[in-house]
Amino acid sequence: MAETTFEEAQRCTFCQMPCKTVNVQRMPQGGKLHTFQCENERCVDKGGRRIVQTNPDGSVAHRQPGPKTFEPLNHFADVAQRARDELRLIELESLHPTLTRAELMRMLGG
Ligand SMILES: [Zn+2]
Repeated sequence: MAETTFEEAQRCTFCQMPCKTVNVQRMPQGGKLHTFQCENERCVDKGGRRIVQTNPDGSVAHRQPGPKTFEPLNHFADVAQRARDELRLIELESLHPTLTRAELMRMLGG
């Protein structure tokens, strides 16, 4: 089954997992504002929210670029590498809850 635009819009832009709907607000002109929140424990944007506007017919309104519009992630960029390092650290923390972050970083060779 092909994914609808709304289902695509509900996915986290970082981890691509479907987000939880935390709020739906009706617009005076008939559309709705859906607030989605990423609940993925492993996502760098866990707890991050995004707002998607739908038209009265349920279709997703055209996205207006705003201050919350992010550039597509470059997987070779420093920020992406830091995110991967952070995820490795979080994973290691869950495996070794008694070690400090500094000790875990040494385990990772950092
Ligand atoms: Zn996410």
